[in-house]
Amino acid sequence: MTKYTYLVPNDRQTQWLNVLLAKNGGALKKITGLTILGVSLYIVSPTLIISLLRTLGLRDKDTKESCRLDRTTMGLINARNDCFINSSLQALVPLSSFTVYLNSILSKLQEDKNLSLPLHKNLAKTVYELQKLIVDSESYSAELIISTMEHIFKGTISRQQNDAHEFTQLLLETLFKELAVLPKGVIEVPMKGVVGNHLICIRCGHISQIKEEMFSIYELNVPQCSSSKLTDIIHNNQLEKIEGYSCLYCEINMILKNENYRNSDGFTGDDEEKRKLRYLKEVFLNNLMINQELPDDIMHYIKSYKRGYCDISKMEKSDIFRKRRLLQCPKVLLIHLSRSMYNGMAYTRNPCNVEFENILELEEEQMLQSSPGEKTFINSNSKIRYELKSLVKHTGSHYQGHYQCYRHKPKLRINKENGEIINRSSVIDNNLLKDDEVEVEVKEENTVPSQSFKKIKSVETYPFWKLSDTSIEESTVKKVLNEKKSVYMLYYERI
Ligand SMILES: [Zn+2]
Repeated sequence: MTKYTYLVPNDRQTQWLNVLLAKNGGALKKITGLTILGVSLYIVSPTLIISLLRTLGLRDKDTKESCRLDRTTMGLINARNDCFINSSLQALVPLSSFTVYLNSILSKLQEDKNLSLPLHKNLAKTVYELQKLIVDSESYSAELIISTMEHIFKGTISRQQNDAHEFTQLLLETLFKELAVLPKGVIEVPMKGVVGNHLICIRCGHISQIKEEMFSIYELNVPQCSSSKLTDIIHNNQLEKIEGYSCLYCEINMILKNENYRNSDGFTGDDEEKRKLRYLKEVFLNNLMINQELPDDIMHYIKSYKRGYCDISKMEKSDIFRKRRLLQCPKVLLIHLSRSMYNGMAYTRNPCNVEFENILELEEEQMLQSSPGEKTFINSNSKIRYELKSLVKHTGSHYQGHYQCYRHKPKLRINKENGEIINRSSVIDNNLLKDDEVEVEVKEENTVPSQSFKKIKSVETYPFWKLSDTSIEESTVKKVLNEKKSVYMLYYERI
């Protein structure tokens, strides 16, 4: 067991992250407001793998088991408390759209020699190594990624206090930053999604303008109870109660009521004040949003309004609901289950059993621009289906523990006729990793009729690998879904 601190990602950054941020002069900004444009499509043909079993002449029954290409996979060495990095990287390996994304970046790099995207390139190299099909235990190292990150941030990644979620967040933010040199929307990180937030005042029932926000990790707070379903957590997290909000609608309503009460024939005050009050009445009657932006002098007038019994500065604040809706579901939905609890003295780990499924169904909503500045949600009734590809688990306490990863095996098929095995999953194209462009031989697809290939029984029975650094074992879906207590990050891919 290695020791790490398990931190509260939203409230407190880890020390190492702060060190990185400080050294980098705050260059790490939250990625928000990126334009949503089309995604590039890059198709990777399934790689034909010449059957090792055949070439090695190991086809007899006794050795068949030990030569299975899905029995084990490449592990990652844990040199200095690296399990949070190892698990974070392994979880990315089976994500087809992420592989396709990295391949398209690699082709851009081959096309334009002046382009430099070091993290993308080295991540592709690492994923390539981890996707290799092997028969015997082998291990690779995350050192290339660690040194690339340390070089980019001119700092050292501390191994004392670390969290797989924070590492992944930093990794993704760095990818977004590197990607910014390419024209917007040409290639999109597959984890990128968009949520729309709006506020509803419980007192007056009016709403705010919808604010669109980009995300790459979907953050969820695990409820403090013995067990909960993931779909319920997603649903409940979309509705959050916030206390003490200054609702503009309630404030203006109060002022106008007070004015009517004081003088039913018209507004009080001098001409300037009458102008302001007439303005307030007009916006009030014209679908006023609870956070609408009004001119500074008007805002000042509202906030300092004090006449008779009406004093806006002393007015009771509103309780509001913040509604979060998925406006653009990403290709890879990366969920972080925040299990941090503060009991007033210290942080503890929330042991809630989170029940999740192999297939996750979500509803994507659309936003309708009904008039300038006014947007409403409409239910698009489009259901998005996701399949579980990876899981990062954390065991131990809030302050120390161990990270492990489950990742889906590739889609291997065997040719009934000649024993050839093909990998139908996307893999990093080795030719694209070379610095010089190479003539790629275009393989004829489907030269062998698909009915000649059949599923491999061991892949069907054990579709996952469980990776704890260099130790790898096969796993059933049931075992993965049983990680209710320790599930920390979930990687779902659109199907
Ligand atoms: Zn209100």
